[in-house]
Amino acid sequence: MSVDTRQKIEVLGRSAQYDLCGEACGTEASRVRDDLGRWIYPAVLPDGKRVCLLKVLLTNACENNCYYCANRASRNFRRISFTPEELAYAFDQMHRKGLVEGLFLSSGVCNAARTMDRMIATVELVRRRYAFPGYVHLKILPGATFAHVERAVQLANRVSVNLEAPNPERLARIAPPKDFTTHLLQPLHWARRLIEESKRGSVSQTTQFVVGAADETDRELLSTTAQLYREIGLARVYFSAFQPIAETPLEDHPPTSPLREHRLYQSDFLLRQYGFTFEDLVFDESGNLPGQADPKLTWAQAHPECFPVEVNRASREELLRIPGIGPTSASRILKLRREGKVRELSDLRRIGAVAHRAAPFVLLNGQQPPFQLSLW
Ligand code: SF4
Repeated sequence: MSVDTRQKIEVLGRSAQYDLCGEACGTEASRVRDDLGRWIYPAVLPDGKRVCLLKVLLTNACENNCYYCANRASRNFRRISFTPEELAYAFDQMHRKGLVEGLFLSSGVCNAARTMDRMIATVELVRRRYAFPGYVHLKILPGATFAHVERAVQLANRVSVNLEAPNPERLARIAPPKDFTTHLLQPLHWARRLIEESKRGSVSQTTQFVVGAADETDRELLSTTAQLYREIGLARVYFSAFQPIAETPLEDHPPTSPLREHRLYQSDFLLRQYGFTFEDLVFDESGNLPGQADPKLTWAQAHPECFPVEVNRASREELLRIPGIGPTSASRILKLRREGKVRELSDLRRIGAVAHRAAPFVLLNGQQPPFQLSLW
């Protein structure tokens, strides 16, 4: 691999850091530098497998001027691009050396149709010329055509469109050239239909919000999130706390706290894995999630009529409403009950539940276990 190609991977890997591709991915702290100093990210695949991805842009040149973005056209820095042949070859080299097990490809936009053509050409080379059968996540750019989305769904394991904001009004405040409905939502709908029609059932799609840039509320973000899961069948929604970048219109806008991002992810888990609906989520008067307690505890405190729950009789759905009990511990409780009764907090602790959190909300064999009142 030439020095020029190595430098491009270094620069375009760094430029790709704002695109999220999995739980353990996207931050400076989570990336792994290999001995050549390239940008490789650990990520969790849809099947739970952990892999190292080459996360890279095809180009950091962009004709758009989104207010929050480091790659916006008006910023003054060196723009570089890969050709599809260069990038596909570089990826193959890294894969053969065992440095990476998958590819995450995004890009700045220099004529959406032309850039999508080049991204697709890159993945076609990776699949055909280099016979790579593994994981590819391909970003669909705003303004992509139906034909682009169709080819992307044929080639990739995961496709994504970054909505960035929860509705057209908020998007107009931070990315005026993008049209929420036609540029962003439409490709997600196309991808959903194509995935349903395709024989490759393992293809999934995701999106990402930049949290706080448009002064949107958590209620707006989670309302759209719930709708995306319900109506478009997204596999994941990612939340990226806004951080101001110099030489952008939002350089003086306050950064979003990591705690806000964390509370959004906790709520997202409730929607995806705990049977909660958007209507269950509790917001404060400003439309945001309370920061002082996690969203499940907040819901439980707002619904004293639902507690205490007798752990030995509760359904799985009822167990999942108890703070400190997650999907895994709920399954283990159901299994444990087939062998005998759950009598002590130590029984809950043993199967992985956070017993001290659950204590104020449960009955164990008819008895309320001891707990510290301060937990309320
Ligand atoms: S289109 Fe993408 S790369 Fe270009 S300025 Fe907007 S967010 Fe940044």
